[in-house]
Amino acid sequence: QNIQHFRPTKAIINLEAIKRNVQHLKEHLKKGVQIIAVVKANAYGHGDVEVAATAIEAGASMLAVATPEEALHIRKHFPNIDILILGYAPVSFAPYAAKENITLTVFSSDWVDQVKALTLSNPLKLHMKIDTGMGRIGVTTIEDLMNLYNAISSSSNLLVDGVFTHFATADEEDETYFNHQVSKFEQFISSLPVKPRIVHAANTATMLVKDQRLQYDAVRFGISMYGLAPSAYVKTKLPFPLQPAFSLETELVEVKLIQPGQSIGYGATFTATEPSYIGTIPIGYADGLIRKYSGQHVLVNGTRAPIIGRICMDQCMILLPAAYNIGEKVTLIGKQQNDEITIDEWAEKVETINYEVPCIITSRVPRIYN
Ligand code: PLP
Repeated sequence: QNIQHFRPTKAIINLEAIKRNVQHLKEHLKKGVQIIAVVKANAYGHGDVEVAATAIEAGASMLAVATPEEALHIRKHFPNIDILILGYAPVSFAPYAAKENITLTVFSSDWVDQVKALTLSNPLKLHMKIDTGMGRIGVTTIEDLMNLYNAISSSSNLLVDGVFTHFATADEEDETYFNHQVSKFEQFISSLPVKPRIVHAANTATMLVKDQRLQYDAVRFGISMYGLAPSAYVKTKLPFPLQPAFSLETELVEVKLIQPGQSIGYGATFTATEPSYIGTIPIGYADGLIRKYSGQHVLVNGTRAPIIGRICMDQCMILLPAAYNIGEKVTLIGKQQNDEITIDEWAEKVETINYEVPCIITSRVPRIYN
């Protein structure tokens, strides 16, 4: 992508870090277990095509996305890799999925019956989803699983390629609910007359801190591929170091000295109590820097500076420790000299999880790869 960027605000994505995270995982997995790289939501905001290429190079053999649109986008760039849509795909997408060799998640025999009435140019690969306790999508009884399996198996154009579930509490220390989900999954799997080619259940937390047996035939590697731990608990138990891949940078576009009593931004919510240098940076809530981030620190010349006043749509203001020049680099996420502002720190600031932070940095912020 040779688009020229003029605005200095950019996300820098370290593909080497992603590569290393996948390689480390590969060494940690049981022999023969496949890696499904989860690149949904534009690879958690990191850029789906670039992350997918890196993950494949490092050893992933399949990609997982959430929607038909994401799958088609990936397919355009990778004609041969297996792609699984983890979420719902409408019946109307089935012919496209068959044509483009995109594997769908299925959890309703009614859906299967409707697809059977369509003309498909190629066989359609399906993974059956079992809801063992997440309460989201998936069959909840063995009877429904058997009906689903039989509905698929009775068509020569449909193929049961896999079966899977998703854990709700794999990142927590208490294993009661998790173990309940595991037993239910295994009970359902053993009721199938033939084991599908790929049985999978593990998200990042499961593959990093639970019994290796639960890696089954494949693992779905999401958050830690991006160098982030799924929870504070898992962070204390990591079997290998994770390297974050996402930094966010911009530059000062204006610096001004204000006097006591002068105020900054909409609502004039910040008022100087002493002579203060104020820097303006070109990033705002339309870039994903939501207004709740007011007060969050950024780094300027290795020193922390808080975002002050209300964050505007496209810009915000920071309280500088000294007079800096226009063009001075400002790091919102990442390292500068001896300090680092992490995605986890951002997540804590707005009381959310690290997953959400890069996901909501909007497409107006270019992703630059190194
Ligand atoms: N599998 C499914 C079905 C998911 O929805 C997700 C993420 O939300 C993942 C795997 C990846 O999870 P994680 O990012 O925790 O590895």
